[in-house]
Amino acid sequence: MGTNLASAARVEPLYDGPLTVATLCSHSSLQIFHGARTEGLPSLGIAVGEPPRFYDAFPLARPDRFLSVAKVADVGKEASRLRGEGAVIVPHGSFVEYVGPEAFQNLDVPVFGNRAVIAWESDREKERMWLESAGVEMPRRFATPAEVEGPAIVKYYGAKGGKGFFLAKNREAMDDFRPTGPYVIQEYVLGTRYYVHFFYSPLSDRGYRVGDGSLELLGMDRRDEANIDELYKLGAQEELLKAGIRPTFVVTGNVSVVLRESLLPQIFDIGARIIERSIELFGGMVGPFCVEGIMTEDLRFKVFEISTRIVAGTNLFISGSSYSDLVAPNLSTGRRIAIELKRARSEHRLREVLS
Ligand code: AMP
Repeated sequence: MGTNLASAARVEPLYDGPLTVATLCSHSSLQIFHGARTEGLPSLGIAVGEPPRFYDAFPLARPDRFLSVAKVADVGKEASRLRGEGAVIVPHGSFVEYVGPEAFQNLDVPVFGNRAVIAWESDREKERMWLESAGVEMPRRFATPAEVEGPAIVKYYGAKGGKGFFLAKNREAMDDFRPTGPYVIQEYVLGTRYYVHFFYSPLSDRGYRVGDGSLELLGMDRRDEANIDELYKLGAQEELLKAGIRPTFVVTGNVSVVLRESLLPQIFDIGARIIERSIELFGGMVGPFCVEGIMTEDLRFKVFEISTRIVAGTNLFISGSSYSDLVAPNLSTGRRIAIELKRARSEHRLREVLS
């Protein structure tokens, strides 16, 4: 038996009553609602103001019901109504960002996954401690500009879309760096980015076993990042800076990628280590997560970030990916969440997947 993540009082009503998949109308909501519908679960879209019109264009992904709030921060005030509807919140990247990590922790509605993970993800120091103590290789860190060796990237805390990140070709180029807030300096890893979509099921006793459950690989993408993707990265930067153009990493879309098959053992090993360590540190990460890293020319994957819930790159794979097709047909991450919820309920194990 896995860890109980949620209090009995919050979760037990869901065993008998309705179980409704709820999320904020944004990010990967189409996929989440589509997955619920495919699995026969009702769905509820939380909209800020009027429900977005684009749902009318996607009948297979339109939620069954909407709940309108004046602002995202009001979601917490609707907790008793949401509980009354049998709602399980499926948090996506925008949900946690808009509601705020603290309000999310305190939300009095069952949430899919272990919300304790937020504390480990939202703090870059804790995230590094988690991943490094799991034996995952990350970009080197430099304590001061003087220590920089080779290319470096300076990241500001909380910078949305990497706005204002500073790139330096070498130590000398760091002389031009003028900090505008708290920052960290990292090795700028040269290689190819991959965003790997995993799903950890604490319920499954088949497949690639990790802890008491199993790890699935459901897809992989690369993010298109304006305008850095066109800067050809470090080289053109100086010329563009002269023209007043600073690099940003604002995500504008996603493209599907696959890895060389011979690299899959390394990727699974990283995913498994992250899960095993999460079980030791905070009772385990449950459901979808994304490991974001750079494959170097000597074929070492250096992880610069982890997203601990469904990422928007999974939207590429509503009807399956090159990886999820090998797990089950037409398997999106949104549908995988609905499958896990149904199984947990039928096996009376909702407390292992909800918090
Ligand atoms: P982050 O805010 O850490 O998610 O980084 C935003 C973007 O910056 C990533 O999607 C990468 O394109 C790039 N990036 C972050 N860290 C590194 C690194 N150490 N080396 C090279 N590129 C990086």
